[in-house]
Amino acid sequence: MRLILLGPPGAGKGTQAQRLVDKYGIVQLSTGDMLRAAVAAGTPVGLKAKDIMASGGLVPDDIVISIIADRIEQPDAANGFILDGFPRTVPQAAALDELLKQKKMKLDAVVELKVNEGALLQRVENRAAETRARGEEVRADDTPEVLAKRLASYRAQTEPLIDYYSERRSLLTVDGMMSIDGVTEEISRVLSAIGAGAKGTGKGTAKGPVKAARAPRKPAKVSRKPAGAAKKAGKKTAKKAKKPAKAARKAAKGAKKAAKRTARKPAKRSAKPAGGKGARKASKPAKKVTKRRAKR
Ligand code: AMP
Repeated sequence: MRLILLGPPGAGKGTQAQRLVDKYGIVQLSTGDMLRAAVAAGTPVGLKAKDIMASGGLVPDDIVISIIADRIEQPDAANGFILDGFPRTVPQAAALDELLKQKKMKLDAVVELKVNEGALLQRVENRAAETRARGEEVRADDTPEVLAKRLASYRAQTEPLIDYYSERRSLLTVDGMMSIDGVTEEISRVLSAIGAGAKGTGKGTAKGPVKAARAPRKPAKVSRKPAGAAKKAGKKTAKKAKKPAKAARKAAKGAKKAAKRTARKPAKRSAKPAGGKGARKASKPAKKVTKRRAKR
């Protein structure tokens, strides 16, 4: 099974990813963890990322794309993986599409953890307190000031991915405000509803059930251009590129250009806090996804 967990900082992606790892025997690939390890080890990537991370900004796309390109090829990821914290921008998502295509891998689903932004500061503070209680070092970016910046990055750069994956019929939304166990149960439920819970989803095995279970949706006009342009950019890349990392870099560049060409105003929801006052409970995510699509 190959999944993406999407949600703002403090939404519970890491916690839920760990549970999915145990349940499905797949690996958690957290770009945040990998970057923190690189910072701690003082590698060239770590040196580049250190200040950006401490200030709550996003590390450049080419760096994280090449990290992921290398990582998903490792033997421990052969049975599947959960991407936690990646992709975080539309060019990263387009590059990931291209990478998966090159490697003939199929993404089963993108699970969005929808949370009330007002609760995030408290959650991040709790996380810092728990880390301290374990005698571990608290993350430099788990402070109220940096959290505000990370949330701003999420709204501006990551939230558009909700539309991106909704348009590709991959998005499953789960109410992230439930208890940790409740969220876990709901994720399992929506995954089995699309037939993605079966063990050992090898190359392309989820294709049939996933397609059959998702609500049909006519892609919004606006989604065709970026998708098509990114596809073209990717094709070009696939022909020219020799190494996967190089391919990833090129895919990111092409996708970035494509995104710029077809740039549109940020989606309305990106101006609002995710899961704000008007947010509905996601007890029936499949229906909810359908509703969201029908709105457009
Ligand atoms: P996280 O642990 O996912 O909250 O990530 C911590 C920090 O690492 C983020 O605030 C970013 O600075 C950086 N980071 C992690 N993943 C990415 C990504 N996919 N793209 C850019 N920056 C990232």
